[in-house]
Amino acid sequence: MLGWPGKPDQIAIIEYAGRRAKPVQHQVDRATGDGMYTVSWRIPGTLAASQTRRFLLRFDTSPVIGTPGTAIDVATSGNTLVVNNGDITLEHQREIGGFISRVTVAEATGALSWHDKVYDGTAYYLPTHEAERMEVTAAGPLRVVIEAASVYLGVNGEQPPSKPRAVYRFTNYAGLPITVVEALVTQEFAQQWKSLHFIEMGTGGAGFTNIATDGRGGRLEQTGRFFAGAKWGAVYNEQLLIAMCTATQPGAYDGGGGKHYLQYLRSGTASMTTLAYRWKDAILWGPGGQALEDRTVQRWHEILAAPPTVQVHFSTLATRLEAVTRIVNVKERALDKLSGKDWAVAHVGMTLARGGAAAAGKKITGGSFRETLSAIESCEQALNANSSEAELAQTGSGLAGLVLGHPYLGNDKAVYLFARPEHGAGLMSIYDRAGSREFLSIDPVHATLWEATVKTEAGGASFANNAQPCTVTFNTDAAGGQLLFEWSEHAAVDVVLRLGVGEALLRGRIEATIDEDKPSGFVSVAFPVVKGIKPLSPESQRDTILDTGRFGRERPSPLLSSKVHNIECPPGMQFTALTGDGLGFYFGEEDGLASRKQLSWAAAGDSLNFSIVHAVLGWGGDRPVRTYRSPGHVVLGPFRGDWYDAARIYRKWAITAPWCAKGRIHERADYPKWLIKAPYWSIGYLQHEKDIEDELNKQAFYEIPTMVAHVYNYFFTRHLDDRYPEYFPPKLGSAGFTAAIERLQSNGVRVVPYVNGSMWDMDTDSYRMEDAERRGAIWMSADGNLNITTSYGGGSSLATMCPGSAIWREKLSAITSELVGRYGADGVYFDFLTDHRGDCYNPEHGHPICGGNFWAKAVHDLYAGARAAAKERNPEAMITGEGIGEFCIDVHDTFLSLGESGSTAPLFLAVYHGYTNVYGGIYNNVDPVMLGRWWLMGCQNGWHG
Ligand SMILES: [Zn+2]
Repeated sequence: MLGWPGKPDQIAIIEYAGRRAKPVQHQVDRATGDGMYTVSWRIPGTLAASQTRRFLLRFDTSPVIGTPGTAIDVATSGNTLVVNNGDITLEHQREIGGFISRVTVAEATGALSWHDKVYDGTAYYLPTHEAERMEVTAAGPLRVVIEAASVYLGVNGEQPPSKPRAVYRFTNYAGLPITVVEALVTQEFAQQWKSLHFIEMGTGGAGFTNIATDGRGGRLEQTGRFFAGAKWGAVYNEQLLIAMCTATQPGAYDGGGGKHYLQYLRSGTASMTTLAYRWKDAILWGPGGQALEDRTVQRWHEILAAPPTVQVHFSTLATRLEAVTRIVNVKERALDKLSGKDWAVAHVGMTLARGGAAAAGKKITGGSFRETLSAIESCEQALNANSSEAELAQTGSGLAGLVLGHPYLGNDKAVYLFARPEHGAGLMSIYDRAGSREFLSIDPVHATLWEATVKTEAGGASFANNAQPCTVTFNTDAAGGQLLFEWSEHAAVDVVLRLGVGEALLRGRIEATIDEDKPSGFVSVAFPVVKGIKPLSPESQRDTILDTGRFGRERPSPLLSSKVHNIECPPGMQFTALTGDGLGFYFGEEDGLASRKQLSWAAAGDSLNFSIVHAVLGWGGDRPVRTYRSPGHVVLGPFRGDWYDAARIYRKWAITAPWCAKGRIHERADYPKWLIKAPYWSIGYLQHEKDIEDELNKQAFYEIPTMVAHVYNYFFTRHLDDRYPEYFPPKLGSAGFTAAIERLQSNGVRVVPYVNGSMWDMDTDSYRMEDAERRGAIWMSADGNLNITTSYGGGSSLATMCPGSAIWREKLSAITSELVGRYGADGVYFDFLTDHRGDCYNPEHGHPICGGNFWAKAVHDLYAGARAAAKERNPEAMITGEGIGEFCIDVHDTFLSLGESGSTAPLFLAVYHGYTNVYGGIYNNVDPVMLGRWWLMGCQNGWHG
C-alpha cells in the first residue's frame, strides 16, 4: 500500500542483485483509500529459506515486462466469474453469495456448495442468496482478486436484529495452486453468536473418496464421522483434491446416514461476540491424492504458517526517524536521575515520544508514507512538550492523578497510563519499572478499556470508552492509589482501578447502568479490553498464551499461530497470561459466581488484543437488564516467571472461592477416603456376566488392591446413546446388577456407573408422560426452538435437557439415588454437563434467561442435589463428570481429564492441587512413560479401555 498521488502505470519494480538492476514483472491495483495501491510482483527464480532479496519500487515508466508463461486472468459472463490460473479454473457464482461453485484441476471437475453461516440456535446463511456485490478488484496477469459482499439470511429470507454481513476476498496468484480467502464479518451491534462458520464447503457433489488431515484420515463412507486436524484438512479422489491449509479447526464430515450430500470440508468455527471478526485461510486445489504423497499440502501449510516477509524502506523518512529516536534514547537515560513526581512527568513525556517513534517504525516497514510522517511529527511534539503540567496525589511511592492531561496510576513497581479523558481514557501504557519495560504499543486515540452492547426494540447498539469523553477523579492512601473514571453518554459507566502498595498488578471493577426511561438493556459488557500488547520474546518466537480450559496447556502466541484463541468460562478457569523469556502478562477475574465469560486473545498487526466479554445475567429475557456490575475484581498486569507463576497468582484467590470453601480433600469429611487411595480407573461395561471377569482381570493385570470401574452399557439400548434416561432395570436384571457390583466390591473394585447428564430420548414413554419437553427441554431461542441431537444416539432424537429445570434436576437425583441406594454403586459419572455451556430461553423453568451465572449455578445445583441424594444412601459415595470445571469442585470428587496425553502447563492442578482430583488417560496408551508422566502431574491413571 502506498500513500502516493501518482498513476499506477508510473510504478516500476526493479530487482537489485549485486550490481545488476533488472526490471521485474509487476501488477498495480487500486486499493481502498485515496492514493492507495496494492503492488504485487513476481520474484524471478526461487526464494530460498532465510534469503533476502531487494527490490526497488520506482515512480517512473520503466520498460514493462511482458506477460509470463504462467499468467492468471478472469472472465466475466453474466453472474459468473471464471478465474483461469494454468490448469486450475474456478467459477464464482453471484447467485450463491459469490462463492466458488465449481473447480477444475487439469481434467477433473468438482461441484461445490457452501454453508458459511452464523448460528445462535437459528442459522443465517451467506450462500443461500445472491451477493449484494461481486466484483473483480484485481484482474491479472499476476494476481486476481474477487470480492463478494453479502448479508446473512435465515431460511425464510429473514435478517437477524444485528444485521450481520460479510465481505469475502478471494485472492489467486499466477502459477500458485492456492486461493487465499479472507473474510471480514461485521454486525451493527455485538449480538452473541454461538458460532460463526467459515469456509464450510459442501463437497458431496464432487465425488471424493478420502479425507486426510494432519491428525486422523480415512475413507469417506457416509457414516457421520468427523475427521479433525490441527493444521490442515483435505478431501480427495484420484484426480482432484481440496485442502484447507491454515485453518483454525480443519476437518471434514463424511456425510451422515448414507447421505453423501451432507459431506463437507471446513476451515473452522468460533463464537462471535464482537462487532467485527476476521478470518483467513488458504484453499489448495490439487490433482488428487498425489498432492499428499508429494507433500504439496503439507508444504503449503508450512509456507503459509511462516510466509516470506516483506520490509519496505523509505530512505528519507528513515533518516528523520533515526534522528528523533536518538533524542528519545538520550532523554530516556536521563530519567534515572529523577524520582517521585518529576520522574512521573518525565516518564509520561517519554512514553508519548516513544509511542510516536514506535508507531512511525511500524508504519515505515508497512510502507505507509503519510502515516509514518505524522507519527514522526507527533514524536517530535512530545519531545518538545512542556513537562511541568501535573496534578498528582501521593502517598509513599503511590501516585495517582493527571500528567500532561493523561490519567496516571503508579508506584515503585509499575505505572499505568491512560489516554486523555477527552479521548475516552483507554489503557495506553503499562510500564514495569524494575525491568524498564513497556508492555503496550497503542496510539492513545485507539486505546480501549471497555465495550458494551445493548439490545433495544429496534435491534441493538454497541458503544465503547474510546469514542466518548469521561471525567477522572483520583486519590491515594496508605493502601495504594486509585482512579475513578465516569462516562455518561450512552449509559452511566464507572470504572474503578486500584494499584496497591508494592503491587505490579492492577485491580479493577466496572459498573454500568442504563436509565429507567430508556428502552434498552445490556446484552454484554467487555472489560477489560486491552489493545496493543507487545510480544515478550523477539518476534514472539518463545511467547505462549495460557489456555486455562480443561487440563490447561500452553499455546503459541496468536502472533505466531494467526488464530484467535478464546477461553470459555465456565468451565475454563478465569485467568490466562502471555508468557515468554521469563516475563509474563496476567489477566484474571476473581468471580466467585463463575459467571459466563469469554477470555479472548487475538493478533492485530504486530501486537495482541485481549478482552473479557461478559454475557450479562438475564439478557435474553423480556425485561431489559439495566445494570451490570463486576462480580469480582478484574486483575491484570506484568509478572516474572512462567505458567506456574501465573497459576500461583490465580491460586491465591481461587482457594478462597466458594467452591473451595470445604477445604482440602484430606481434611474434608464429605470426601470419600477410598477415592483418595484408588490407583486406577478402568472403563467397564457390565452388560454380561463375563464383563465382571474383565474388570477383575484388569485389576489383576496391574496387581492393585483396589480400583474404580467406570461402567457403561449396563442398561438396555439398541445403541449406547438411546433410551436416556431410562436406565432401569439394568441388562443383568435388578438382582444380577446388584450381585455384579457386590462381587466387584468384595474384590476391592469400586463401581461408578455412567449417566448422561443432558439428554432425554424423545421416543421414550417417559418423555411424553412426564411432559418433559415443556417442563425441561432447553429452548435454544426465545421462539421455543429445541436442541435435538440425532447424530449421537444412532439416529434417535435426543432432546437436550435444561439443568436449570426442576424436572431434570429431580430426574438425575432420582437416578443417582437408585444407582447408589438400590444397586449399591459407589457413585455416579455424569456425561456432558461439566464440560458444556449453554443458555435456555424457556420461561417455564423459572431461571434467569441466558448469561451471567445461569448455567454455572444450574449445573452446580443439579450436582449438589444428586450428590446429596447419593450421600443420603451412602455417605462414602462420590460424584464425577466429563471434563474439568472449577465451579464444580465442591460437588465433584474428581474430574475426567478427557484424552489429555500430557501438558507442559498442567494449570488446573497447579491452581487446585490439594483441593480436588483429576483422573483419565489415553485410550490404548499404557506405556510406562505415559502412565508415569500422568502420575507425576498429580492425576489418577485410567481410562485406557
Ligand atoms: Zn431452562
